[in-house]
Amino acid sequence: MGECREIALVPIGRVDPVILGWVKEDIPKILAVDVTEYPPLPLSPRFFHKDRNQYLADGLLGELPAIIRDGNTISLGITESDIFTPGLNFVFGIATAGRALISTLRLRPEFYGMPPNPGLYHWRVLTEAVHEIGHALGLPHCEYPGCVMFFSNSIADTDRKGPEFCFRCRRRIEWTGKLRE
Ligand SMILES: [Zn+2]
Ligand SMILES: [Zn+2]
Repeated sequence: MGECREIALVPIGRVDPVILGWVKEDIPKILAVDVTEYPPLPLSPRFFHKDRNQYLADGLLGELPAIIRDGNTISLGITESDIFTPGLNFVFGIATAGRALISTLRLRPEFYGMPPNPGLYHWRVLTEAVHEIGHALGLPHCEYPGCVMFFSNSIADTDRKGPEFCFRCRRRIEWTGKLRE
């Protein structure tokens, strides 16, 4: 893991400013980073798969700037469109070293036929953003279901784990000085 001091928040396509506000305000409460909003990127039509009405997550991720400037920046892309990766019907997000991407579509309570619930939606967006940033920092999945690094196979997994790191994952990040006390 390298140093990370800044998260470059990159909207991909149209993203509700309220959601961007949640991410900007809350990520620094968990990780010792600043979050800066970057100009939006377009949703590249070449990554749209009409047959499944989804974008290829790996394609969008690859368009994000990586290791911006001094190498102390991780980019976090956020889209309201549905995304998938080969072998999975959908993903809440994906990441590689230095780059993370989340989709908000399946985090909305309305997606599951539930009434709007901004508190729950906010919790889910933060959880998935921290999870993918964890991967971008080099953390693997964690087997503890209450840890943000637990793999989310469904929205129930996301709701159970929440945005906090478990003791072990927390220590892994603390070694590099990235976690808020
Ligand atoms: Zn994961
Ligand atoms: Zn953990």
